[in-house]
Amino acid sequence: MTVEPVSSTFSAEFFPQLVTNGFLEKGDPGEGSGKSFPVIAPASGARIGQVPEMGAAETRAAIARARASLDHWRGLLPKARAEILMKWHGLIRRHAADLAYIIHCEQGKSLQEAGREVVGALAYVEWYAEEAKRTYGDTIPTTDAKKRMFSTREPLGVVAAITPWNFPLALVVRKCAPALAAGCTVVLKPSEETPFSAIALLDLAARAGLPDGVLSLVFGRAEEIGQALCDSPEVRGLSFTGSTAVGRQLMSGSAATVKKLSMELGGNAPFIIFDDADVEAALEGLIASKFRNGGQTCVAANRIFVHGDIYERFIGRLVAKVMEKGDAGPLINRQAVVKMTRLVEDAERKGAVIRCGGRPRSRPGFYFQPTVLSEASPEMACFDQEIFGPVAALYRFSDEAAVLELANRGAAGLAAYVYTESLNRAWRFQERLAYGVVGINVGTTSCESAPFGGLNQSGLGREGGREGIDFYLETKYTCLGVPG
Ligand code: ADP
Repeated sequence: MTVEPVSSTFSAEFFPQLVTNGFLEKGDPGEGSGKSFPVIAPASGARIGQVPEMGAAETRAAIARARASLDHWRGLLPKARAEILMKWHGLIRRHAADLAYIIHCEQGKSLQEAGREVVGALAYVEWYAEEAKRTYGDTIPTTDAKKRMFSTREPLGVVAAITPWNFPLALVVRKCAPALAAGCTVVLKPSEETPFSAIALLDLAARAGLPDGVLSLVFGRAEEIGQALCDSPEVRGLSFTGSTAVGRQLMSGSAATVKKLSMELGGNAPFIIFDDADVEAALEGLIASKFRNGGQTCVAANRIFVHGDIYERFIGRLVAKVMEKGDAGPLINRQAVVKMTRLVEDAERKGAVIRCGGRPRSRPGFYFQPTVLSEASPEMACFDQEIFGPVAALYRFSDEAAVLELANRGAAGLAAYVYTESLNRAWRFQERLAYGVVGINVGTTSCESAPFGGLNQSGLGREGGREGIDFYLETKYTCLGVPG
């Protein structure tokens, strides 16, 4: 489907709705702390609204609502849950332009990219509405003539979902849709940078007939909310997407109540281009991987290794493409711009050459020029750190074994990319890259039907695909005694 762009005024349907709900201009602090916090548009630096600041008390109340609604929700036929999810899908689709506009305003990506995010989100809702009906167990060949054995799958129970700001709609549904499909009830904490997409999604879920308490929203004091979620014995699972540091904190916080954990943590993607690659295809793939969403994706090319024989030619073409494409969209906030400046200065000090960009833009909002650095080396901070912005650092290599060692260096293991026309080499890299997602001659891989997730310290569990609903299900083994 295509999403019509909407006008650039706040005429989209949801904004008046949010105003009446007291979420936007009035800033009704709701119950609880009585405080609220502002939401800032990255494109202008201006405040676009404010939302109530919630903490532990509101989190505990949301958990209680999730617990109270669990028996009803898990007791529905999977088909009935699927029908509600498909109604939600229909409403998201009908309001696609409004949702894209909300994402665009609070997250900063272009309307076109925001439209693509809505389309991606729709695909996850549809996929898991379908999967709701397919949570099969097993019959197990017996080992004893007097016993029959089988396994069934049950919802995990109340689960918590904590999501970041880079895909404020898609990452919410990537967790909530399988959870709801499985029969779990959910307490969702979206990022404080981007609460409106989640508010709009919940509004639509209620209109779709999702019963009260099945999906609740909390945001505000992130650490306090995280603590309350971790401490609650009622919360049986926690699904988190965000930084490795916060992921570790949530893992240790969940130890006392032995929660099931799904963690999508940071990446540090190698993007390897061999001398036999289709250079135009590699360029296109690299630009999509590196500059989509202003470089703010956890699967973005972070370390770009280009074979020495094509290095200069490739950089020339890349710089031309980047200049031709023009300015990148805004980054999420001022700290992100400061981080880009710091990484570029560090790289330059250690011998990198700025081939284009390299500086923040002096205009309102949070902008950094699309940047290409050549002569990057592993001593630079951008080798180890997830850049999360429009800075492309290119490393020169000549030896296959050496580039594989560099690509696998470090604790991250989310996504890796390789461009080569050699089938043998492609397969060697598929087997040896220590990453959960491998792109061969492609720069973007995410979709609802494939399992997404990291190896090593990039995370635990998979989202999407057949596997994505597993986290929200428990397996129960039953052994039935039968007369001989
Ligand atoms: P990012 O750098 O992408 O913002 P974070 O890990 O800081 O990554 O944020 C991801 C999500 O985790 C956001 O919803 C954020 O509010 C939340 N978060 C941050 N700190 C904590 C914490 N201590 N406990 C629970 N959630 C947290």
